[in-house]
Amino acid sequence: MRKTVYWIEGDGIGPEVWKAARPVIDAAVEKSYGDSRSIEWKELLAGEKAHRETGEYLPQSTLDTLATAELAIKGPLGTPVGKGFRSLNVTMRQTLDLYACIRPIRYFDGIMSPVKRPDLVDMVVFRENTEDVYAGIEYRAGTPEAKRLIAFLRDELGAKVDIEAAVGIKPMTEKGSKRLVRRALRFAIDQKRPNLTLVHKGNIMKFTEGGFREWGYEVARDEFADLTTTETEGTAGRLVVKDRIADAMFQEVLIRPQQYSVIATSNLNGDYISDALAAQVGGLGLAPGVNMSDSLAFFEATHGTAPTIAGQDKANPGSLILCGALMLEHMGWNEAAERIYKAVNEAIASRRVTVDLATQMENATTVGTVAFGDIVTAGL
Ligand code: NAD
Repeated sequence: MRKTVYWIEGDGIGPEVWKAARPVIDAAVEKSYGDSRSIEWKELLAGEKAHRETGEYLPQSTLDTLATAELAIKGPLGTPVGKGFRSLNVTMRQTLDLYACIRPIRYFDGIMSPVKRPDLVDMVVFRENTEDVYAGIEYRAGTPEAKRLIAFLRDELGAKVDIEAAVGIKPMTEKGSKRLVRRALRFAIDQKRPNLTLVHKGNIMKFTEGGFREWGYEVARDEFADLTTTETEGTAGRLVVKDRIADAMFQEVLIRPQQYSVIATSNLNGDYISDALAAQVGGLGLAPGVNMSDSLAFFEATHGTAPTIAGQDKANPGSLILCGALMLEHMGWNEAAERIYKAVNEAIASRRVTVDLATQMENATTVGTVAFGDIVTAGL
């Protein structure tokens, strides 16, 4: 079986982390399946490289191909400097309707963490990616737009809003919330995870965040009735669907991380909690992620272009390597994915790591970007 994977090199440290990561992914597949499975890599242009070769940062042909693709993976992309450029990442997310941002968070032995038992963290965060306050509907205080909106709210709807306020809109739909929760439920059931937690702030924002909670339970009840249960019912052998208020959840993941497995949440909560969890395991630089539409799984290194270390063989390719593992898991090529997780674990445990990790460990030896990739490959 040969699977096509589109790849975007990315800017800054992108080329070097790719040089280290791709051989790891190919070697894991080869070691697991010999000649019977392989990846056909096809490059797509975006970012500086696209600009050099085509004069555009995000060529239409790249978007057209991604619109019909199943699998893609990218290095970090810088935001072009200059007027009129939006973030390429945001443009791709919106154009391709990548509505679910998924980040697994687990601990790797040996990394320094600010908590006592980082090893108890093994969670996957599903963050809604298109709605909520990220919709970008905001008006600066005192502008005619803000005043007009406030006047409408006051005069037509009787809301108490100071006319001098800056205002933003938080749209959250049943459709948008349900498709995110549905995907998280399917994942949790397929992966035989013990529980899924809907994280929301519905005690204060009853119709937006509270709506998310209600719609989430509705999907579980209406579409996964035989496979899910609630905390109170607690039917054995089924996925427990529960909910927590966001502020309490930040305490819970610190105090009782072992009680949480899959998290489904709205855009802003998800942004906060995925970074907080990554920090809890000491691994901001090691976190992989994927943005998904109904047809495309688009994996991405979650760090940026790290311009100050670009081209110096210092960057940690771990995030991209783990993106590869996540992609293989998504493809159902679990043996290859497991090999990568195990080899990354061992590489870190051996304390031969890139400088970002070496400074967080005792008695570590600093190695370069490609050398780290080679160490992982040797451990596959
Ligand atoms: P950054 O992630 O590039 O850098 C933050 C810090 O982490 C820096 O000290 C950097 O040296 C370090 N770092 C990041 N990745 C590393 C790695 N793999 N190995 C070792 N050290 C690493 O964030 P930033 O400086 O805020 O952003 C720089 C550029 O990247 C901006 O143009 C931003 O828009 C872009 N960006 C892109 C993405 C993406 O493509 N997903 C994400 C974040 C930022």
